[in-house]
Amino acid sequence: MRSLPRSLDPLPDETLTGFVLRLAHRLGTTPAEILLRTGLAPGGSPSLPTRLPLSFQYHLDDAHLTVFARAALLMPAEVADMLLAPLGQRYGPLNPAFTPRNTPARMIYDNPWVLTRSTRYCPPCLTGNGTPIQDRHGGPWQRLWRLPMIFLCVRHRRLLAHQCPGCGVLAQSTHAGSAIARPTDETLNPRQCRSAKMRPAPTGKPARACGADLARQDALPGEPDTATMNVLLRVQWRLVELLAAGGPETTMSTGAWVPVAHYFADLRAVVAMIFRTWPEARPYASTPALAAALDAEYASRTAQAQPLLNTVGKKKTSKPYTVPPQDPLAMGAVLDIAYQLLATTELDEAREFLAPLVQRLREDDRALSIYLRRPAWISTPLRAAVADNVPSRAHPGHGR
Ligand SMILES: [Zn+2]
Ligand SMILES: [Zn+2]
Repeated sequence: MRSLPRSLDPLPDETLTGFVLRLAHRLGTTPAEILLRTGLAPGGSPSLPTRLPLSFQYHLDDAHLTVFARAALLMPAEVADMLLAPLGQRYGPLNPAFTPRNTPARMIYDNPWVLTRSTRYCPPCLTGNGTPIQDRHGGPWQRLWRLPMIFLCVRHRRLLAHQCPGCGVLAQSTHAGSAIARPTDETLNPRQCRSAKMRPAPTGKPARACGADLARQDALPGEPDTATMNVLLRVQWRLVELLAAGGPETTMSTGAWVPVAHYFADLRAVVAMIFRTWPEARPYASTPALAAALDAEYASRTAQAQPLLNTVGKKKTSKPYTVPPQDPLAMGAVLDIAYQLLATTELDEAREFLAPLVQRLREDDRALSIYLRRPAWISTPLRAAVADNVPSRAHPGHGR
């Protein structure tokens, strides 16, 4: 594999897909050509690939990584930093200890806590920072936007977007199993929406790409009120800080210090508990707007779960309650509550806070209550806080 004539410096926190899109645009060729010439064609096929496998965004084996790095004139460590797998060191839902999977590539399958089929994004970040290279090819498509727990841009102090303002499709949606849609299209800037509206029958062939500029900032949905934004910013700042490479190694979860990855696993479980037992945790919503966002989210989940109750065979009625919200506002709203429930400094206090949720969950969904509390899902302190058969202690004069 020969090196490309020119390449690009990766931007901070840039994804592999984002880098390939910018590189293709810089070299005036198609993403498919870049994949072919950097060894990312599936199965090493010598012909122009039609797709980038979803798992390549998450993990590259040593052979692929080395060939890609050499061809794109990068250090192997720079390539590793574009992949999602390293985030699992801090982010429990991508950590094998809390999300047991047989192989690295399996980690992303049926794992709703990482976005591999679309992404959230911040339009001002995509606009770029004003340097000539970013003016031409856009700012980075960021890795953190692939984690559902990232719902706002702390730099631009605004909720992330998740849909194209032009066609309404989820941003950077995969198509035909490819992490990059329309890989043979060389007309699009990396900032543009690549989704294709289908032509009406009888041809049924994909029409031209939507092409809307996702960096466009005119079609903003209404931002929440200032008090709500301040709450969301505080929660997001804290989580971004914990996810940052070189950030704190440990943090407090239900009264004990745990490695950061354990904390994110706990957040995932508590989010599911909050939705499955709603409105038990409603009093913790910090503002009326956040409570309203969760009422609406809960209603849509109940609507999804209802038909499953009447289906024969293996039921997955809990599933609508355990996935993260797609809507960034609802995501922020539920994380604000989960954050508070885990932020207690004493185990007894955590137990009291969580007791109504635990009890309601046990009554309404025994299977889910066991699933969410197993050792391979949450930290040891949270397990103690939500354990069954804890002798009930009276707290006369406890003073809280
Ligand atoms: Zn931004
Ligand atoms: Zn579009």
